[in-house]
Amino acid sequence: MQTGSYINGKWFHPNSERLVRNVNPADPKDVIAEFPAATAQDVRAAIDAATAAFPLWKNTPGPERGRVLWRAVNLARARLEDIARTMTREEGKILKEARGETLKGISLLEFFAGEGYRMHGKTMPSEVRDTFTYTIRRPLGVVGLITPWNFPWALPVWKIAPALVAGNTIVFKPAELTPATASLLVEIFEEAGLPPGVLNMVVGSGSVVGNAIVDAPETRAISFTGSNQVGNALYQQAAKLNKKVTCEMGGKNAIVILPDADLDKAVNAIIGGAFGSTGQRCTATSRVLAAPQVKQTLLERLTERASKLKVGPGLDESSEMGPAVDEKQWKTDLSYIEIARGEGAQLVVGGNVPENSNGGYFVQPTIFDGVKPHMRIFQEEVFGPVLAVGVAQDLQEAIHFSNAVEFGLTTSIFTQDINNVLRYVEDVETGMVHVNEPTIGGEAQLPFGGSKNTGVGEREMAEEGLNFFTELKTVFINYGGTGERSMIR
Ligand code: ADP
Repeated sequence: MQTGSYINGKWFHPNSERLVRNVNPADPKDVIAEFPAATAQDVRAAIDAATAAFPLWKNTPGPERGRVLWRAVNLARARLEDIARTMTREEGKILKEARGETLKGISLLEFFAGEGYRMHGKTMPSEVRDTFTYTIRRPLGVVGLITPWNFPWALPVWKIAPALVAGNTIVFKPAELTPATASLLVEIFEEAGLPPGVLNMVVGSGSVVGNAIVDAPETRAISFTGSNQVGNALYQQAAKLNKKVTCEMGGKNAIVILPDADLDKAVNAIIGGAFGSTGQRCTATSRVLAAPQVKQTLLERLTERASKLKVGPGLDESSEMGPAVDEKQWKTDLSYIEIARGEGAQLVVGGNVPENSNGGYFVQPTIFDGVKPHMRIFQEEVFGPVLAVGVAQDLQEAIHFSNAVEFGLTTSIFTQDINNVLRYVEDVETGMVHVNEPTIGGEAQLPFGGSKNTGVGEREMAEEGLNFFTELKTVFINYGGTGERSMIR
């Protein structure tokens, strides 16, 4: 596996003192790689390479660009196990989840490979006689992609694939905690025949490398996924420079359990949504709003399941939940457990570091009961395996509580009643709504994203994701020979 940064088709180790240290969060003594971090000069070189490569890539026909993605699909399938193991080793998620994420990225590559044939505009009748009017979609130029560590494979793919197939060239900055999976992705694109300079990767800190990408006059669009703190500042900075921006940020996703819910399915959905990927998903289930009639039974069953989850290294096939990604996130998880206790929520299971953690950043699956909307554990994103359970008296209160947070990414409702389903879908303030299934998941062909403080800019994935990386040109062709355009109507 390559390490370092990748500019203009070449891997290299930047000339800098600061090191990127990639370690296994299940065993921080296991050092995967250590190499010099990229600098602002490297970002400049990456932008110059992307600028130089743009004319060639832009003029490559869409279907031909799509074929590079198809070749990447085949290469990724052949390397699935390598990708999954690398991801588990550096991010911590269990192998089953890492394999699933790899397949998700492959579906995204397949979907966007096909988009190379489409990228359609529209034709519409003109007001003017003998005039043909239509729109075409064109690439933007150099785009900057900044990704977090929690989906180190699928998330870069869902930005890189549409950006590439639309004809843009890329400066990509993965999270410093997960550069190895990102490097495998870049290697695959290199092997798939992407010309030098079309995809460049700079591995370094957000404050230096990320900022330089946003500040560079050449980057026409920035696609960011990460924290609200960084995303909000980035949005303001990019707006000053008139860049197109999409930011996908925090979530505090609720699952509503009405009295007629199928509790077996609800328990599975909550356990998977809250503790899958160690709660480190923007779509994680972090709040349960249960009807009073079912709350106690639900809580008992959740508690039983959570207490039996096997926490351990993701590379061990028998583990059911891996560690937090690093010491900082581990401390955040533990501090939220203290905060929740301090504000009067009742700890029903977990709340500690498991025995035999051997220096890994493990936290027990944790559930709090009696959580009220004013509490921080109800309002703030933990990004760890900490679930808040509270009561909602009826559907109206469930809708009210679901919406009583600053975020609006995703949600779910469990009920058999179609009227309640449709009322909830209508009134809940989130970008995605699930019915009788977990809050998690997205599909390549469906728009992904949130409202309120979760997200700004266009939705990702699907046709919308492609639209973000293109701009429209409206064309007026007068074939009447008059050369005139009436401005009266
Ligand atoms: P997370 O903790 O989920 O990774 P962050 O918002 O801290 O969330 O980071 C998301 C991505 O944004 C990472 O690649 C990070 O390096 C990058 N980043 C951090 N600070 C900045 C910044 N000031 N400008 C641009 N990118 C940044």
